[in-house]
Amino acid sequence: MRLSDRISSIPASATVAITTRAQQMKAEGIDVVNFGAGEPDFDTPQFIKDAAKAALDAGDTKYNPRKFKALKQAICDKLARDNDVLASPDQVAVTFGGKHALYDAFQVLLNPGDKVLIPVPYWVSYPEQVKLAGGVPIAMPTGAESGFKITPRQVLDMADDAKIIVLNSPSNPTGVTYTRDELAALGEAILKTGLAVFSDEIYENLVYGDTKFCSMAAVEPRLADRLVIFNGLAKTFSMTGWRLGWAVGPKDVIGAINRLMSHETTNPVSFAVAGAYEAYTNPQAPATIEIMRAAFEARGRHLHQRLSTLPGVSCVEPTGAFYCFPDVSRHFGRTIAGVKVDSSMSFTKACLEAARVALVPGDAFGEDRCVRLSFATSMQEIDKGIDRLEKLL
Ligand code: PMP
Repeated sequence: MRLSDRISSIPASATVAITTRAQQMKAEGIDVVNFGAGEPDFDTPQFIKDAAKAALDAGDTKYNPRKFKALKQAICDKLARDNDVLASPDQVAVTFGGKHALYDAFQVLLNPGDKVLIPVPYWVSYPEQVKLAGGVPIAMPTGAESGFKITPRQVLDMADDAKIIVLNSPSNPTGVTYTRDELAALGEAILKTGLAVFSDEIYENLVYGDTKFCSMAAVEPRLADRLVIFNGLAKTFSMTGWRLGWAVGPKDVIGAINRLMSHETTNPVSFAVAGAYEAYTNPQAPATIEIMRAAFEARGRHLHQRLSTLPGVSCVEPTGAFYCFPDVSRHFGRTIAGVKVDSSMSFTKACLEAARVALVPGDAFGEDRCVRLSFATSMQEIDKGIDRLEKLL
């Protein structure tokens, strides 16, 4: 059958591809160190699993599960408690992961040719989702020199006739987190334009050192009628497989997403909703999140230190998420283990085939000088992987 033009121009997710290749090598008995994973390596906390099991046993297996409305209220309570953001349940859409929430939001807001500003490096799915909605992604360049952050000047210079700007703090792939002052300055600039804001806050609980997470919605409340928050349970509660996320924003936008979902997915998985409700309401949750956050902090610091000692590698220190995004471009032009290295793709190929270390090429995130390493893996694996890279380089 002839595929649609729409899908033909869309590549598969590079992060999924590299993880699949590393898993395949593992299955063949090859000892691969996988820095590709975009998910926590912890199990979902037991009290969340118990709530989902209880929901199943109680027959919570139908359309429109009982706790669906309660989850929306619990999300509003969480936003007020943790983020200083006020919202009502009719401003919440619950979706199949944050990815789905973003996808549907682009679908309901973009007309053909509408422009979306996306800071580079970006999470792989933003540009593809924009294109799938008929929009045009516009790259906002940054660099390691500016800590991979965009500036208010860039917003003013590039806003033109663009419709949306995407912000992602803490960031995948750089691990960079904007401070309150930086967000305030960006907010000021955005207010002078016609831009709407998509604030992807999925890594909010994973911040390190003195870094404090701030939601753009709290920092600049005057943006309320043109700002949508995206979040979910995948990273905070180690629930990637549950596919549970949400969007909070103006009622008309959320209403449109809910209308789209009524033809698309109807409602999220009933017993997963029960687990999510428990995650946001159980008093054990903060302590459980803290255990995982502290482990990521120690691993991130260690990985960053070790990366910084590798020849020809420099790395901005991550203040959030679970990624390091080192610049490896000083190796371009070399032949490493028989592979001519001239791009992030050929660099990662050399690392995988010759050192059995899986990295994600920065090219997938719009920055070809870098590669991404996830520290959602054990200290032993981090040391094993970096020892191998040290030898190879
Ligand atoms: N935004 C960012 C920046 C991400 O890294 C991810 C997960 N890789 C998501 C959104 C989506 O997460 P999920 O669909 O699993 O909730």
